[in-house]
Amino acid sequence: MDDQYQRSIEYLRISITDRCNLRCRYCMPATGVPWLPPEDILTYEEILRLVTLCTGLGFRKFRVTGGEPLVRKGVLGFLTELAQTEGVEDLTLTTNGILLRPMAAKLKEVGVKRVNISLDTLDQDKFEEVTRGGRLGDVLAGIHASLEAGLNPVKLNMVVIRNFNDTELADFAKLAQEYPLHIRFIELMPIGASAASGEELVSVAEMKQRLDFLNLVPVKGPEGAGPAQHYTGDGLKGSIGFISALSQHFCAGCNRVRLTADGKLKPCLHSTQEFDLRELLRGGASDAQLREAITQVVWHKPSRHNMGLEGWQGRKRVMSQIGG
Ligand code: SAM
Ligand code: SF4
Repeated sequence: MDDQYQRSIEYLRISITDRCNLRCRYCMPATGVPWLPPEDILTYEEILRLVTLCTGLGFRKFRVTGGEPLVRKGVLGFLTELAQTEGVEDLTLTTNGILLRPMAAKLKEVGVKRVNISLDTLDQDKFEEVTRGGRLGDVLAGIHASLEAGLNPVKLNMVVIRNFNDTELADFAKLAQEYPLHIRFIELMPIGASAASGEELVSVAEMKQRLDFLNLVPVKGPEGAGPAQHYTGDGLKGSIGFISALSQHFCAGCNRVRLTADGKLKPCLHSTQEFDLRELLRGGASDAQLREAITQVVWHKPSRHNMGLEGWQGRKRVMSQIGG
């Protein structure tokens, strides 16, 4: 379905939980965030009802995220049903990879096509520091299990942070030379716990300079349109991508809206605008009423975000509460 700026909106990102087994320092404050009470979280049945309505409105792509989606009980059963819902053509998952090793093959089996794994450093000490206690080995095992399971493409998302991991870009590129991995380098966004971190931002332009030894050549992404600019380069089995939410926003091509774990439909990651679908769902709304609400939210999707500009007020929720 189209919004008022003639963008075709067909992609729903679904956060199934605000809980997480890590506390990444740019995503959550050290003290964590108070978890939502369980009764505030949409049930799987409620989410599946919304998905069915969305497919009826033309949505085709669905990504499950969190918090950490793999910590929610019953996630495999939910993904099985989601994958079998008529109109769901593309089902993907974003995860921190900690619980992935024993689950990768099952994810593939139930119909998840591919995974994005967040990994910011290949150094155990730094990993522990950035995640406040995580074990790098778990994520590396999850990456290998995903490759073996044929979750293709396997993408690694690295948030680049000056004076923390900006010396590791070449090491990540080497991983994509060794394995068919698609590395996406992401600009740190001034959102959530990293709200005051302008000096930690490394622009995509600078990232590219640091990778000039790869002789990068632009290519089409491993699967369809998205916010990343993709490149191939010397010796790469996978690809390299860059996501620049700040230095070059990609709003004109945006095709997505987001559903938070507590049932708010957000037309833009960086806007405070959200619509309470849970209230409608639990207030006995008909399918027609819910469909109308979703249509209105999509229609009013902002033309672009104002993140980083004066007066911007997108920080009501931290990233783990939206889903990234
Ligand atoms: N827990 C899962 C994970 O880490 O992949 C899914 C949810 S997490 C909020 C989704 C993505 O948001 C992760 O790739 C994470 O690195 C990214 N993220 C969180 N805070 C960010 C920030 N301030 N700037 C850029 N990316 C951020
Ligand atoms: Fe958890 Fe993902 Fe946020 Fe890290 S980025 S704290 S793994 S939700």
